[in-house]
Amino acid sequence: MIDEDKIANNLETIRERIAQAAARGGRDSRDVVLVAVSKTFPPEAVAAAYRAGQRDFGENRAEEGTGKMPLVDALLPDAQLTWHMIGHMQRRKVPLVVAHFDMVHSVDRMPVAVRLSTLAQQARRTIPVLLECNVAGESSKYGFDAAGWEHDMSLRQRFMDHAREILDLPGLEVSGLMTMAPLVEDAEEVRPVFSSLRALRDALQQAFPDHEISHLSMGMSNDFEVAVEQGATMVRIGRAIFGPRIT
Ligand SMILES: *Cc1c(COP(=O)(O)O)cnc(C)c1O
Repeated sequence: MIDEDKIANNLETIRERIAQAAARGGRDSRDVVLVAVSKTFPPEAVAAAYRAGQRDFGENRAEEGTGKMPLVDALLPDAQLTWHMIGHMQRRKVPLVVAHFDMVHSVDRMPVAVRLSTLAQQARRTIPVLLECNVAGESSKYGFDAAGWEHDMSLRQRFMDHAREILDLPGLEVSGLMTMAPLVEDAEEVRPVFSSLRALRDALQQAFPDHEISHLSMGMSNDFEVAVEQGATMVRIGRAIFGPRIT
C-alpha cells in the first residue's frame, strides 16, 4: 500500500534538509534539483510524490521506467513530469531511453554516447546528458575513470579527450557530471569524492568555455547533504522519499 502522507512528509523533510545544507554551503537551494528515484516503486508512489509537488523523477532501468510512465500518465492526466535516466544502459536499450526520457545522467562509456547521439539525431532531439565519472575508483562502479585525476596527468588527459569527443557529438548537450559515491557508514567519508567531481567539472568547464557544463549530479539518500554542501545541483533520492526497497 502507498502511504501518500508519508511520501509527502518525507519530501517536505528532504526539501528542508537540502535547504539547510545549501545554506551551510553558501548556496541557493533553488540551484538544487531534487530527483525522486522511483525505481522498484509503483506508479501510485510517483503520483503521490507528484501531488506533493515533486516534478523530477529518476529510473535506473529503461524498461522499468518506460513501463511505468504510461501508468503514471493514466493516474495523472495532463501532468508534466521530467524523467531522468540514471542507470547503466545496455546499448540495445538506448532507443527506449531516447524515446521516453528527458535527460540522461549515466553516459558512462563512449559507445553509449555515440548510440545516444545517433538516435537523438534521428528523433530530431537534443538530449541533455551528464558524464558519469568513477571518481572513487571502485571496480564495481560504472563510468569514465577519473580516480585520482588531480594527480595523474595522463588520466586527466584521457578524460578530457573523451569529453571533447562527446561534446562534439550532435544531438547531445553535455551539461555536467554525475557520480555515485561509495556506500559508507558516515557520509563525511565521501566528501572528498564529491569535491573531486566538482573540481573535475570546473576543469572541464575551463577547458571548454564555449559549452555550459554546470551540473553536478551527486548525492543519494545516505549522503545528499554532504553532496549539496560540496556543490551538487542535482540529488538523486529514492529510499528517503519512498521508503525501503524490497528487491
Ligand atoms: C537507486 C539509485 C539512487 C537512489 O538511491 P537511494 O539510496 O534510494 O536514495 C541514486 N542514483 C542511482 C544511480 C541509483 O541507481
